[in-house]
Amino acid sequence: MSNAPLNDFDEFDDFNVYAPPKTAIGQTGGTADFWREGELLVMSIGAVLPDRCIKCNAPAHGVRWDKRLSWHPPLIALLVLINLLLYLIVAVIFTKRAQVSIGVCRKHLTRRRRLLATTWLLLLVSIAVFIGGVGLSFDRNTETAGIAVMILAGAALVTGLVIGLGFAPLVTPTEITKTHVRLKRVHPNYLAMLDTVEAARARS
Ligand SMILES: [Zn+2]
Repeated sequence: MSNAPLNDFDEFDDFNVYAPPKTAIGQTGGTADFWREGELLVMSIGAVLPDRCIKCNAPAHGVRWDKRLSWHPPLIALLVLINLLLYLIVAVIFTKRAQVSIGVCRKHLTRRRRLLATTWLLLLVSIAVFIGGVGLSFDRNTETAGIAVMILAGAALVTGLVIGLGFAPLVTPTEITKTHVRLKRVHPNYLAMLDTVEAARARS
């Protein structure tokens, strides 16, 4: 996480996110480091994205979300249906990773932290509840209740994973190559201030 000061965020209450950008964001030294491609943001690995929140386009005031994203071709996930171990081995081989640094506002950083905390809480609760369910299932009188409690633990686990893997990440990679990263779940106003790939190519 960024070490940038977190004390000047109240400034964006009156910030108009619909106003056109005052600077030509997307132009870094005349090279096409990042651009939009429909609803996706494409960035070269190592590109410095604008100092704007990728989730709402408000000024990020230097706060960055530094994250090592990973991605593998989605079809590989189908191997789970055949064999979990096979999937894990193939996924390890084909997974590509990229370090990204993305601007984020305090509101969305806080939201992410809360979602992550909720995830961990649900995972810990699911373990505790599962152990409780196992204990109950040893006794014939409480066996059914034990199974019900274990199912409840499973539901808490799945909910935690959905929140942690689905909602907590600020963006989701749709592809990572050796040179570029494609990201979805980027705010439309953020995308709107970027060049299209044609404009970026014409400029660089
Ligand atoms: Zn934001």
